[in-house]
Amino acid sequence: MKCPHCLVEFHAEVEWLHLGKDKKGNWAIEKYPCPNPDCGKFIIYLVQGDAIWSQPAAGGRHFSHIQPVKRRFLVNPKGSNRPPVPPEVPPDFTEDYIEACLVLPDSPKASAALSRRCLQHILGEKAGVKKKVK
Ligand SMILES: [Zn+2]
Repeated sequence: MKCPHCLVEFHAEVEWLHLGKDKKGNWAIEKYPCPNPDCGKFIIYLVQGDAIWSQPAAGGRHFSHIQPVKRRFLVNPKGSNRPPVPPEVPPDFTEDYIEACLVLPDSPKASAALSRRCLQHILGEKAGVKKKVK
């Protein structure tokens, strides 16, 4: 998989943590530690679905993973899987872009408003476009 923090491709070593079961089913955390030493961040999903249990030789049962997955939310990093802003982009343009990406899953209209503001800013600053005159 590709790390959404650093965009480096790596072989996924998953860890599961069972949270419990409610009326919709089982909930768990699916965690991947990024092995890139320059990154080292966790990629974390909140997952809902059916729990698969393993039965160790010692007895009892041990949570293995969720299968099938009914719902899966990326919680770290928050937001969409958009690539990071290239370093050559001036910081005053990146702020609106990053915020538009972060709010997209929760509010597409808010994301569109921020995207429009970002575009207006770029057109005004770099293309010399003035506000329309009525
Ligand atoms: Zn990474």
